[in-house]
Amino acid sequence: MGPRFTLLAAIICLSLTFPLAGQTQSTSKPKPHVVVIGVNGMELDVIRPLLLKGDMPNLAKVIKKGAYGKLRTVSSPNCPRVYSTIFTSTKPEEHGVTGFLVGGITANTNMLKEEPIWSILSKHDVSVGMANVPATFPVMPVNGYMISGMLTRGKNCEDGVLCAPKLSEVEGGAAVYPESMKPELLKNVGDFYIDCERMPSAEQLRGHEAEVIDSWLKRVDVIREQQTKLFDYLLKNHPTDFTWLAQSCEDRTGHWLYPIAPYNVGYNPKINGVRSDAFPNQYIGFDKVLGTVLNNIDDNTYVIIVSDHGIKPLREFEETDPHAHMDHEKTTPVIAKHDFADGDDVPGSFFAMGPGIKHDLRLMGFEASVYDVAPTILHIYGIAQPEQMRGHVLTQIFESGDSKVAKK
Ligand SMILES: [Zn+2]
Repeated sequence: MGPRFTLLAAIICLSLTFPLAGQTQSTSKPKPHVVVIGVNGMELDVIRPLLLKGDMPNLAKVIKKGAYGKLRTVSSPNCPRVYSTIFTSTKPEEHGVTGFLVGGITANTNMLKEEPIWSILSKHDVSVGMANVPATFPVMPVNGYMISGMLTRGKNCEDGVLCAPKLSEVEGGAAVYPESMKPELLKNVGDFYIDCERMPSAEQLRGHEAEVIDSWLKRVDVIREQQTKLFDYLLKNHPTDFTWLAQSCEDRTGHWLYPIAPYNVGYNPKINGVRSDAFPNQYIGFDKVLGTVLNNIDDNTYVIIVSDHGIKPLREFEETDPHAHMDHEKTTPVIAKHDFADGDDVPGSFFAMGPGIKHDLRLMGFEASVYDVAPTILHIYGIAQPEQMRGHVLTQIFESGDSKVAKK
């Protein structure tokens, strides 16, 4: 752990037991409300036709009422590497979470060497709620609650990499802060999966392709239903000033069920000819989750949707690249990936709407990057950007480009 953040962790451990948000009302003036929704590997190439067809009405609404564009990501992007960059607005080599494994160990929050945004916000008396955000295991104390996401370890998912323990099956660290919230969630939401389902192996698929694909997609639907219930419960029963929710089944589906053409690398008609709707359907599913979130918030709430990277079909020449496919376990016959050496090949995406944010604004080129998300959120709360942060406030999305706090 780096010196700067070690000090902070010590301060938190020694002196603070944050009240569970929603139970204690602060007497200070109300803070802006911001809801961030993370979607892993959201691919604009797949989303655009769905928007055109009217299959994503909620995202269309956010675009109309806000600003959107590509989000420049880091090189060889994968979830923990990019999410930790978004958390801290520092380079992977600086924050320490360089990939799924760091020095042979599954990435975890103890590796973070730079201060993440939830900690900065908590210190400024902003209440924080986070659920299923990747690379937040074991959970850390915040001024509110935190429920971990991708990379949570547990039964049938001992290494924590791209598998799905249920809340009751978590091992090797806490998945819920504060601890008292865990029994409450089990009682009111049920025993939900913390992350998306593990992808089937080539061996499991052989000879049973259609059957395995269908049952896997059904499990994905169940996981998304559970997540929707969880998000709805949290937004209704534990409202916080800052809320960050995330989804991860989209990315995983894209890896092996991206609707590629027969001439793409890795095309196997037995698998890729079965459910060409599978990957687009994930975004239609996501749009419904977004609808549930939007139903729980008012017009004064900022909504920011971020994707850590996109996902594209494999390319022959990349397979000789030293950075070639390292992001997922090597047993699944994947046909799309995102850890291209040049991160500009697989940009993420960014959508924002809320008080003072311009309407119908499209960010061209790489105006926005994963480094800019944290400074922009801090700006909304009127918190100065810490010097280690490498991004900048996306002032161009605000009607008033000055550095004043956006008013609630
Ligand atoms: Zn992935």
